[in-house]
Amino acid sequence: MSFVPYSRQTISDDDITAVINVLRSEFLTQGPAVEDFERAFAQKHQTQHAVAVSNATAGLHIACLALDIAPGKLVWTSPNSFLASANCALYCGASVDFVDIDPVTKNISLVALEEKLRAAEAAGKLPDLLIPVDFAGLPADLREMRGLADQYGFKILEDASHAIGASYLGAPVGSQWADASVFSLHAVKIVTSGEGGVVTTQDPKLAARLRRLRSHGITRNKSEFAGKDDGPWYYQQMDLGFNYRLTDFQAALAASQLGRLSQLHEARMACVERYSALLETLPLKIPVHFKDRVSAWHLYVIEVDGPDAEKKRLKIFNAMRDSHIGVNVHYIPIHTQPFYQRLGFRRGQFPNAEMYYSRAISLPLFPELTFEVQSGVVEKLKMALLA
Ligand SMILES: *Cc1c(COP(=O)(O)O)cnc(C)c1O
Repeated sequence: MSFVPYSRQTISDDDITAVINVLRSEFLTQGPAVEDFERAFAQKHQTQHAVAVSNATAGLHIACLALDIAPGKLVWTSPNSFLASANCALYCGASVDFVDIDPVTKNISLVALEEKLRAAEAAGKLPDLLIPVDFAGLPADLREMRGLADQYGFKILEDASHAIGASYLGAPVGSQWADASVFSLHAVKIVTSGEGGVVTTQDPKLAARLRRLRSHGITRNKSEFAGKDDGPWYYQQMDLGFNYRLTDFQAALAASQLGRLSQLHEARMACVERYSALLETLPLKIPVHFKDRVSAWHLYVIEVDGPDAEKKRLKIFNAMRDSHIGVNVHYIPIHTQPFYQRLGFRRGQFPNAEMYYSRAISLPLFPELTFEVQSGVVEKLKMALLA
């Protein structure tokens, strides 16, 4: 078997044509294709505003800024995520802390969140912003989190990097509950522009701020000007912004992919069903389905069970990599990284995330994964597991 990666982009002839068309047009950088993509993305996600950015990390950064995260502010997120979910708070000079995960969903645990909020209130150190992560594409408990946000007075920035195509309580992720949601268009994610990201929000003021922050803090919209308008060439810098723009040829790729989102999602779901059927009888934990939400199925994570789980996980991982199967591990708990340890975090602080991490393996999952390759993956897994 040639190498099977854990994730892989799906590029169609239409995608290629869409990019070529932009390459032959006037615009390469942010232009009409970005606008078209933003409109399509907003429509698909039933949201008023979608702001395309150069990557989801940039999106998280400017979303934190637009939600007033600054020195002295406190941001809570999940330890079971990619580093960017926490780093974005530190970019803004804020402090970061974590809320342990639920062992079933691998998302922030509501019980842990409520407990931590009660303790934080007593200590006078409530968070300003919560960044829940829709791990593997499974929407976090946003409705309950919104209730807690209103009760305790914090905002919600959903890290929906994994969750394009996911739905929660009958509506697309990013359409409600959170103040803003961030999606990644990285090549391993659901829909790609190579590198890219999108921030969605229903709040027009927030959207305007995000648009400024993505482009040096500049506005050309005269209604936003402070003081007099010098003339048709004039623009004003309102905030300290960045160059976090997406290019038009990237937007064309993402828009073309977005057009077949349901097809891509169905292909992922077919692979998930196949895995679950093949793995059901093995001594492993496999992902759970929920009635009130549909995962985007960015990842298919199994957990090795039993007393020697950690050792067994290493053995299985090595055996599968030796067989050219690109298994992976998502995620190394953020607080265990040397950088975060230097900030004062300690191992053992978020035991559910650490326990899960010690047993998890992500199996290959992408729309073009064939049943035949899946069967091969499961055969190798079985051999390693039962050896
Ligand atoms: C991929 C990812 C990011 C960062 O996305 P980029 O587009 O690569 O910057 C942030 N959060 C999570 C949970 C991710 O998986």
